[in-house]
Amino acid sequence: MYFEKVKAEYVDGKRKLIPTGEPDVFYPADDVIIAIGQENRFEWIERDLGIEFDKWDMPVVSPETFASTAPKVFFGGDAALGPKNVITAVAQGHQAAISIDLYCNGLDISDRPAPDTKLFSTKMGIHEWAYDNDVTTDNRFIVPQADKKETLSNRLKEVELGFDLATAFKEAQRCLNCDVQTVFDEYKCIECDACMDICPTNCITFTTNEDDENSLRMKLLVPAINQEQELLVSDTLKTGKVMVKDEDVCLHCGLCAERCPTAAWDMKQFNYNTAKAGHLCYA
Ligand SMILES: Cc1cc2nc3c(=O)[nH]c(=O)nc-3n(C[C@H](O)[C@H](O)[C@H](O)COP(=O)(O)OP(=O)(O)OC[C@H]3O[C@@H](n4cnc5c(N)ncnc54)[C@H](O)[C@@H]3O)c2cc1C
Ligand code: SF4
Ligand code: SF4
Repeated sequence: MYFEKVKAEYVDGKRKLIPTGEPDVFYPADDVIIAIGQENRFEWIERDLGIEFDKWDMPVVSPETFASTAPKVFFGGDAALGPKNVITAVAQGHQAAISIDLYCNGLDISDRPAPDTKLFSTKMGIHEWAYDNDVTTDNRFIVPQADKKETLSNRLKEVELGFDLATAFKEAQRCLNCDVQTVFDEYKCIECDACMDICPTNCITFTTNEDDENSLRMKLLVPAINQEQELLVSDTLKTGKVMVKDEDVCLHCGLCAERCPTAAWDMKQFNYNTAKAGHLCYA
């Protein structure tokens, strides 16, 4: 392969590669594979291997198993279902790896292993929690940036400087603790209404149930108008009422669990581990 010799020159701050006029450089090679670019190109895959291609010349790949139509060939990342982002590429790689593992173990690749999920209590004492449940009303802190004169003239200069320690701490305090769930146990509840009284957002209501969900939504202490958010409705309690919680406005502050005299409310952390190849027993 011949390479033209070039040198970098800067015109108006922009780098340009200018031919030097020197003779081309020759590198002998048996095969030259072009592996650069931002598009999928599969000309190099022979079309008689059993891998089916669609009208866009992309391999037909299962979005669940990432298997191609050839039993031993799997795809993941941008080459599988088109360009997306790094997180998606890595997730698809994991799924393809699970398929390869299942396939190599002679198992059904469509029988996907479930993720590992756990809920565990964060309560350490009456007022003590294993997570920080402080509720802050701070707005998002602005990430400081380097001087624009510098960043606009030097494209290698990093624009965002990042938070200093104190601001990073304050920003972290804005965390909504979405991983910590309020878990209700009907059998422990004595219907004292203490949790309903203390909840700062009035998201807990003890009331009689309704056949029609909208009627139930409208009779809560604060009507639950966001239809996209499901309500948590308990089994019928001893008085014939149900506990209804509107998750949409819960701050995960833990006051209900702190106040409850019978520990019918618990704040439980939700742990989710995606299934990974070789880490689970598939049998
Ligand atoms: C300009 C740009 C900016 C982006 N910014 C972001 C971003 O900020 N955040 C984000 O999450 N995603 C971003 N993406 C998307 C992200 O880069 C891709 O989704 C991700 O890199 C895909 O990973 P991959 O492993 O599937 O493919 P690639 O990272 O493309 O890896 C494929 C590799 O295979 C090599 N290759 C190709 N053909 C052959 C061949 N025939 N033989 C041998 N090797 C070969 C290539 O050289 C390459 O190294 C950006 C993409 C672009 C183009
Ligand atoms: S965690 Fe706080 S906001 Fe959520 S239900 Fe309990 S008291 Fe209300
Ligand atoms: S504070 Fe506890 S016992 Fe009282 S109503 Fe709420 S969940 Fe039931």
